[in-house]
Amino acid sequence: MIAEKLIDGKRFAASLRKRIAAETNRLRETYGIVPGLATILVGEDPASQVYIRNKNKQTVEAGMLSLGEDLPGNTSEADLLATIKKLNADPSVNGILVQLPLPNQISQNSVIDAIDPAKDVDGFHLRNVGLLSAGRGGMVPCTPLGCRILLKECLGDLTGLKAVVVGRSNIVGKPMAQLLLESNCTVTIAHSRSNNLPAICRDADILIAAIGQPRMIKGDWIKKGATVIDVGINRVSSKEKGKTCLVGDVAFEEAVEHAKAITPVPGGVGPMTIACLMHNTLVAACRQNGIDPPDI
Ligand code: NDP
Repeated sequence: MIAEKLIDGKRFAASLRKRIAAETNRLRETYGIVPGLATILVGEDPASQVYIRNKNKQTVEAGMLSLGEDLPGNTSEADLLATIKKLNADPSVNGILVQLPLPNQISQNSVIDAIDPAKDVDGFHLRNVGLLSAGRGGMVPCTPLGCRILLKECLGDLTGLKAVVVGRSNIVGKPMAQLLLESNCTVTIAHSRSNNLPAICRDADILIAAIGQPRMIKGDWIKKGATVIDVGINRVSSKEKGKTCLVGDVAFEEAVEHAKAITPVPGGVGPMTIACLMHNTLVAACRQNGIDPPDI
């Protein structure tokens, strides 16, 4: 019963990566172009190190060039901006990703502003934010893009469905809402100042949780038959003494009783985010060479 309701992000991501690898191969054979992704990690945050290792591994597996810059935690903003300038000018680099969060001495906004918008595979640069909100393409942030792919795989056409996005960050909540709007959903964005959040959630055919609060969305907040996408990744202490585990923003065991389909944590949205990074790198490489990106 539960297995039937699970949206298996790992499986969808593997299939997406396969299609991306095939298109990357075609790009190399037809035009001699190898897409290149440069990642920048500042400091030694263990979770960030794991993310970057995964990203670099999957870049290579997709047949792309992977460049990694590991900078010490005390790197100055000027030095990081100089690194970005160098990568902006490097023709073998089509995509640049700076792992967030950054140490306090560095302004996140200055860093995002410094990345060439054409190489901004995270889709955080103001130019790409503007293009998305105007419905004019641009580079779409990886996590919301992955969520929309999952929704379309599960539901097909999203037209007319009521979508509620809980969370209004620039990285997840806001671009997620834009993408759902683009897919003809009726979209509500909720946040920490929203009144009566349970009632707002109960109205949703599609519920996206991007909050950062472990198991906050309860089962009875979910409309019978809704599709639930849990973006949250929260580390909590596990039942096993002295150990920790990852949980989402949705109380999964309760929610699965009400939902038609739901993403697990881990194994839901996370794998799609990295696959979409590969997708964006491929798209960036095509556009920078005047080639129409493949429709994947
Ligand atoms: P932010 O902290 O930037 O934003 C959280 C949002 O949730 C804010 O808009 C905040 O509202 C809202 N919020 C916080 N508490 C409540 C509450 N009690 N009730 C209603 N709304 C609340 O987080 P991110 O968007 O960056 O990330 C959200 C989650 O997704 C995190 O767990 C993160 O780890 C995860 N994540 C997962 C990814 C993946 O690949 N699976 C990728 C990126 C993030 P307000 O604006 O009012 O403060």
